[in-house]
Formats: sequence, structure tokens, C-alpha cells
Amino acid sequence: MSNRVYDVIIVGAGPAGSSAANELASLGHSVAVFEDKSAPGLSVCCTGIISTECFHSLGLSTDVILTSARSAKFFSPSGRCLRLQTEDVQAYVVDRPLFDEAMASKARSQGAQYFFSSPVTDIIPGKDRIQAETLRGGTREVFNARAVILANGCRPRLPRRLGLGKINSFFVGAQTEVEVKGIDEVEVHFGHEIAPGSFAWLVPISADKAYVGLLAASCARLHLRRFLNSLFRRGRTTGEEVEIKQRAIPLGTLARTYGDRLLVIGDAAGQVKPTTGGGIYFGHLGAKIAAGVLDEALNSGNLTAGQLARYQKQWKAKMGKELSRGYLARWAYARLSDRQIERIFNILDSSGAAEALLRSGDFSFDWHSGTILAGLRRSSAYPWLRMRHLLFREAGL
Ligand SMILES: Cc1cc2nc3c(=O)[nH]c(=O)nc-3n(C[C@H](O)[C@H](O)[C@H](O)COP(=O)(O)OP(=O)(O)OC[C@H]3O[C@@H](n4cnc5c(N)ncnc54)[C@H](O)[C@@H]3O)c2cc1C
Repeated sequence: MSNRVYDVIIVGAGPAGSSAANELASLGHSVAVFEDKSAPGLSVCCTGIISTECFHSLGLSTDVILTSARSAKFFSPSGRCLRLQTEDVQAYVVDRPLFDEAMASKARSQGAQYFFSSPVTDIIPGKDRIQAETLRGGTREVFNARAVILANGCRPRLPRRLGLGKINSFFVGAQTEVEVKGIDEVEVHFGHEIAPGSFAWLVPISADKAYVGLLAASCARLHLRRFLNSLFRRGRTTGEEVEIKQRAIPLGTLARTYGDRLLVIGDAAGQVKPTTGGGIYFGHLGAKIAAGVLDEALNSGNLTAGQLARYQKQWKAKMGKELSRGYLARWAYARLSDRQIERIFNILDSSGAAEALLRSGDFSFDWHSGTILAGLRRSSAYPWLRMRHLLFREAGL
């Protein structure tokens, strides 16, 4: 057992963990980050699209950016295309392995210590400290801290063991990288044949390469394989044999994201946009809030659950409504038929409603509920009404 007592031990060196490590280390706290993998960003499964707002708030070098996006094409189930473009760049596609490495380097430069190939097998809360049990190089080692942050992604075992509950609803994101012909804009494809209840994407990352992926409640790999086959048949991709990676994405939040000497952030807490599955920005916001609350608690010496409950209050105030409305929007969307989705496309396209929405103050790359509600308010057409009816019935929006 190491005699050293860190101020904070963080489990997981993903974007959320490194973001919290950077914040806390820069506030002068001693921080140790334990990561299962042998390096940051290894075998990640992520498209890496983040808003410009998110990118600038992270303070990273532009080296991590693969491409930028100011336009996208949306395809209806029948293949009708709606192209939307803004004057300014809306989002960047970051190279996730490089991005995770850069986030970890930034935290390290503030003094955070990283331990790789070090899975945390247990967290043992105590009266005046909390312990993290790790398996470093196959050897059991115990590290002490005043507080622990779980930033271990979509792996429910540790939060459940610590009595924080578990996230009950998930969907699966599957993705691969393929060689493409003539794809220079982000594409989003809708329809039950392609991605039941969700959507598929093509995101160019260079002149001849793109990420192709989709979200699905189940069988994501199978749906993606079919989508890839159809792209190949239409001559849009040049190769068929590709490695598909997949990963669970939380839909819904952890009931309790704090305990005595304990906080949970990022995917582990369910800080993910339910509309798109994007979790980098909300995980970063969660990490910042956690660091602020923990800084106060460490300085005052009060690390009780009562004190740390502020974290949950603050992050729910910042993004709770967004998450619950996004969840309902996804739930309602999954119940629309292809014909109804097609009708929505017709309305958005023919009335210029999509363009108007894009140019109004209601559009945001990260905060979708405002855009969705503005869309619902602007239209009285049937598919909208059906969605609005479902939302109102479920949540009294
Ligand atoms: C196909 C797909 C595409 C996506 N595209 C986007 C996108 O374009 N934009 C976006 O914002 N989000 C996207 N996401 C979601 C995004 O990848 C996650 O929200 C984000 O990675 C969450 O960050 P995190 O730090 O909370 O967790 P993670 O990135 O999962 O990091 C958790 C880390 O903890 C480590 N770990 C786990 N358990 C332990 C343990 N016991 N001990 C030590 N280490 C441990 C893991 O190895 C991992 O490195 C996508 C997801 C998928 C599946």
C-alpha cells in the first residue's frame, strides 16, 4: 500500500476524467488518475464531433482537429436530401486518440499524475479517507485519497457497488472508418431500415476517408453492416471489409452522482445528449462543476455526501432539463413511422422552416431542447403534433 494520500483519485483517463484532473490540479490539489488502458485514447469508439463552443472551452491546440463542419446533408427514409449550411463553422471533428492524449498532457502539465495499465477494481470509502484498489501489472495495490471521482465511462460495476444505482437505459453506437468517394460534407441518414429509432452518419475526416456509424437500441453492428453494404453497392465507399467497433451509450442519468468523498462524472453519470449520443461536452461541463464543488469541500475539510450533493444540484441545474427533454424527444422520435419522418422532411424543406430555425437564435449545436421546442412551436402539421402530443403527455412540456 502506498503511504501517500492524494487529494483526489480519478478513475478513468477519458475526456471527463482528464478534464477534472486538469481543473483540480490547476487549483493546487494533488491528483492521481488511474486508467485501465496502457495509454490515453487507445481503441476509442467515437466520431469526435464537438461544437466550436466546446473546443474553445477546452483550451487545446488545433493539432487535434481533423476537419471542421459548417454544413450537413440530412437524408429522409426515401433518400430526400435536406442540406443546411451556416456561415460560421459549427463543429470540429477531433482525432479522439490525439484529443485524449492532449487532455491528459494538459492535466499532467498542471501536476496530475497518471497511472496507465492500472484498472481500479474497488473503491473502499472510509471515515477519514477513501481507498482505490488497483491491479497494476497484475499486482494488487491500494492508493489513498481524500476523495474519488469516478469517470470510468459506461461501465456500471463501480457505481453500483458503491450504492449509487445504475443507469437502466442504453443504446449502442457502432462505427468504422472507410474509404469513400466524393463525400465532403457530414451526412445524417434517417429511417427504420437504416437505423431503427435513431440515425446513421457519414463524417468525412480527409479527402478519401470517413467515419460511418449509427446508433441503435440493439443489433447496431448488424445495422451498420447493412448500411455499409448499401453504401458500397451505390459506389459511395470503395471497400467492404472493415473493422466495426461498438460501445454502449447511456440514455438517462445515474440516480445519485455523489456520496461520502465520492463524485461521478461524464458517461458514468449519464452526462450525454440523448438526441445524438454526444458526451464530450456535457462530460466536460460535469467535470468542471465537480472540480468546483470538490475544491470547496477539500478546502473546508467537509467531504460528506451532504456537502457533495451540491454537485448534483449544480449539474442538474445546468443540463438536467436539456437531458430530460432530449430523452423525451428521442423517445417520441423512435415512435414515428418512416412516413411521418418523411412528412417532417417535407415540411422542413418546402416551408423553409429548417433554414429559418437555423438562422434564429433558437439553434444550438449543443443545446437541442430549445431547437426542438422552437420547431414544435412553429409548426402545426400532423407529425409535429404527434410528437408534441407525446412530449406533452409524458412531461407536460
Ligand atoms: C460510435 C460513437 C460515436 C460517438 N461520437 C461522439 C461524438 O461525435 N461527439 C461526442 O461528444 N461524443 C461522441 N460519443 C460519445 C463519447 O465517446 C463519450 O460520451 C465520451 O467518450 C465520454 O467520456 P468519458 O470520459 O465520460 O468516458 P470514456 O471516454 O469512456 O472514458 C472512460 C475511461 O475510463 C477507463 N476505465 C473504465 N473503467 C475503469 C477502471 N475500473 N479502472 C481504470 N480505468 C477505467 C476506460 O478505459 C476509459 O479510458 C460517441 C460514442 C460512440 C459509441
